[in-house]
Amino acid sequence: MYNAKAYSAASATSSLASTTIPRRDPNEHDVQIEILFCGICHSDLHSVRNEWSEFMPTVYPIVPGHEIVGRVTAVGSAVTGFKPGDLAAVGCMVDSDGTCPKCKGGLEQFCQNVTLTFNSEDKHLGGVTYGGYSDGVTVDERFVLRVPTKLDLAGTAPLLCAGITTYSPMRHWGVAKGKKVGVVGLGGLGHMGVKFAHAFEAHVVVFTTSPGKQEDALRLGADEVVVSRNLDEMQKHAGTFDFILDTVSADHDINAYLQLLGPDGNLTLVGAPAKPLGVAAFNLIMGRRSLSGSMIGGIAETQEMLDFCGEHNITANVEVIPIQMVNEAYERLLKSDVKYRFAIDMASLKSE
Ligand code: NAP
Ligand code: ZN
Repeated sequence: MYNAKAYSAASATSSLASTTIPRRDPNEHDVQIEILFCGICHSDLHSVRNEWSEFMPTVYPIVPGHEIVGRVTAVGSAVTGFKPGDLAAVGCMVDSDGTCPKCKGGLEQFCQNVTLTFNSEDKHLGGVTYGGYSDGVTVDERFVLRVPTKLDLAGTAPLLCAGITTYSPMRHWGVAKGKKVGVVGLGGLGHMGVKFAHAFEAHVVVFTTSPGKQEDALRLGADEVVVSRNLDEMQKHAGTFDFILDTVSADHDINAYLQLLGPDGNLTLVGAPAKPLGVAAFNLIMGRRSLSGSMIGGIAETQEMLDFCGEHNITANVEVIPIQMVNEAYERLLKSDVKYRFAIDMASLKSE
């Protein structure tokens, strides 16, 4: 066991502050990683503030972070895919049972025994797992991803959650040339959704509450932008979408978007507001529309997404910050004021 530097929150109302945490020495299947960058996902904020207490109550202290990119410092004797000096990445999961039908089907994220990167039971050290707001982590090789070498590292970190969370449902629902696709909310997830839908050659429409993001949306790959508070603009698109990806983190009216779906259209929620959302039955039964959800993606699909990003030169647009600015970053996240993902430069932990 060794001590790593980290930032943690002591309670739902505490700021994040400097601390040290235990990490395990690599066992035979483990990869030890020096963390270089970690993205800030809105899920980190939901968890730190215990906003999902009903579904995943937070255990304190919490060290969030599941968009991890770093360099391998040591490997166990049985590790075959990584060696010291390699780039490596870790997303939202660090383990699963590996034997259930979901794991065998490449859907580890739905395994009943999945271990999330933070706030899950730590089978090795006891207590809960600690996430990527830290200078190091040790992870089973099966959950370590290869990073395409050409990509900017800070912009690659968010691919591990924002990237796969938007890539996976678009692949599942057949986003492709000739399809009309909506992306609701232009934040960390939303801006990746726009990049992928554009790369898949769909016609992409962004729905934003922030008029100031319109120009950016077009630059990111949108074909059209709708300021969602403008009801006339919304109405012009009624009944026309094949697929809509909703990335909104707060309470909002999804009926306004269900009405925009064409026959057999699907709206997939990836945003995870704390409170239940109301659905008018007629918005589903008219046109045989469907409403579904999606959670990250499996390990093989995450690697596929990273490789796709390497081939198409896709990374997140990041604002790189020192870890000492993390509390300010959370306040800005709540105001939808990030373009479009914060990435923490872990070198800033050295001064703690
Ligand atoms: P984010 O960067 O804060 O983006 C959320 C965006 O939603 C904002 O930029 C804003 O876009 C829009 N928005 C915020 N408040 C709104 C409101 N009251 N009404 C309408 N729109 C609003 O967050 P993120 O990191 O992308 O995460 C988004 C959500 O996805 C979070 O709930 C997060 O927990 C969840 N998530 C789910 C998964 C999964 O596996 N399903 C994975 C990661 C994250 P505009 O300014 O353009 O309106
Ligand atoms: Zn996330």
